Amino acid sequence: MKLLGLATEVILGSLRDAVHVGPELDNIEVELHHVVLAEDLFEVVREDHLLDLPVLGQISETALTSDAEIALREDGLPNTFVPGRNLLFFLLAAALATRREARHLVGGMCETDYSGYPDCRDATLKALQATLNLGMASEFVLHTPLMWSDKAESWRMAERLGGAALVALVREQTHSCYLGVHNVLHAWGHGCGDCPACALRKKGWEAFAGD
Ligand SMILES: [Zn+2]
Repeated sequence: MKLLGLATEVILGSLRDAVHVGPELDNIEVELHHVVLAEDLFEVVREDHLLDLPVLGQISETALTSDAEIALREDGLPNTFVPGRNLLFFLLAAALATRREARHLVGGMCETDYSGYPDCRDATLKALQATLNLGMASEFVLHTPLMWSDKAESWRMAERLGGAALVALVREQTHSCYLGVHNVLHAWGHGCGDCPACALRKKGWEAFAGD
């Protein structure tokens, strides 16, 4: 099992709430930037299916796809920004879901405290859902259970859904860090402590821990 990212783990836990529990659960797929099916957290698991996307490195020279130093661009977006990447992820997830006869696609996009990616916005993903359904003659439902949660609320959601065990798992086994630092454990989890993703995660943890 590979675990990456606060949002990923929390939305796995929240699937029970986001999608009605019942026989149709066999019909759920989880496809994310970091695709994870956490078998011991969530019993609705089918065979894992990871997609490699090296093509992103051909499109954009960014800190996510190369050794480039992370920095903020003039428009305020970090240079990790791969334009429209969430559109691409959902498009590929939808294609895969069609093959696997699934219709629920779940993503950890969030409009509340994010780094300014326009493809994280609720309106973008609603439009994408309509586009996918037209383009594939399908009935996909795009779930974004964290859309209106800030990072503090994501930690609270983890606690609500899985108690201290899930909070500890998220803290100790995931990271949000743009630099991928996973060998330095802070109160808020692993990370470099300096990049924007670490800053958001730390701020959210401190608000959560201070409750
Ligand atoms: Zn970091």
